[in-house]
Amino acid sequence: GELVVSFGEMLVDFVPTVAGVSLAEAPAFLKAPGGAPANVSIAVARLGGEAAFVGKLGDDEFGRMLAAILRDNGVDDGAVVFDAGARTALAFVTLRADGEREFMFYRNPSADMLLTADELNVDVIKRATVFHYGSISLIAEPCRSAHLRAMEIAKEAGALLSYDPNPREALWSSREEARTKILSIWDQADIVKVSESEVEFLTGIDSVEDDVVMKLWRPTFKLLLVTLGGKGCKYYARDFRGVVPSYKIQQVDTTGAGDAFVGALLRKIVQDPSSLQNQEKLEEAIKFANACGAITTTKKGAIPSLPTEIEVLQLMENA
Ligand code: ATP
Repeated sequence: GELVVSFGEMLVDFVPTVAGVSLAEAPAFLKAPGGAPANVSIAVARLGGEAAFVGKLGDDEFGRMLAAILRDNGVDDGAVVFDAGARTALAFVTLRADGEREFMFYRNPSADMLLTADELNVDVIKRATVFHYGSISLIAEPCRSAHLRAMEIAKEAGALLSYDPNPREALWSSREEARTKILSIWDQADIVKVSESEVEFLTGIDSVEDDVVMKLWRPTFKLLLVTLGGKGCKYYARDFRGVVPSYKIQQVDTTGAGDAFVGALLRKIVQDPSSLQNQEKLEEAIKFANACGAITTTKKGAIPSLPTEIEVLQLMENA
């Protein structure tokens, strides 16, 4: 099979209608569906792949809107459950004039945090060729236990586990708590993707030299990726490693680039799992993922800017 199952949060981001303002200064906000695991599932489907999302939404208008967005984009939402007593998570997000991202979350608790292990759609998880998740779903119970159980079910059924940790600091009680919990499931993954700043967050060292990145490597890993924004991506596999540069584009908004990159890479891996053992094939898959990430930065928002396979191939051919 070629199914990519993503587990975790889906929420509504509210983004200012004008650039470079603080949340307080913003005159108005636009709705932007988001949540990294949901973005990944839509990225896979947009590329023509088979994708399912597992998570919980509020039984409210925003929750139903988000489920419809999954379906409209070709993602199987049969494993989405709704909580009658909690709201769909909201986040107000702005890129301030000083370049810093500012977040304000409404999760007190939100429906995504209330998913229980009993509510997991075991059939969908067992069909996964790749089971993908982040770390926001590790923050609070009961979702944390549901997340750990889902990983077990997927692994037992033979799926590859893919992990994209997110140290979103406003959501954790402390930096140390974030680091410890993110690393608590580190060893179980087969594929891990981090960004340059996450390498520093996790190792305490501001460098992506091989000896620093290798502190994050485990002998059971199949692939460790370090995304470098416009510079592309470093990769570490069992028997080889390297760097794959990205493509030259006009960057407008980087939101979702990492998720597009992951979605594209997972799409390639489910199509040909031997890419993990073959350097030439792996580099080709990473080129495809870089191009997908690059295109996603050329338009505002995450989901509206995710490319189709044809658009990705066009960028690769014209480069
Ligand atoms: P996010 O910004 O979504 O949190 P991230 O920090 O992991 O995720 P980046 O490293 O910014 O993501 O980007 C992911 C990938 O997208 C990069 O590895 C690269 O391939 C591509 N990409 C991002 N920005 C650019 C750019 N300006 N030019 C070309 N490619 C880019």
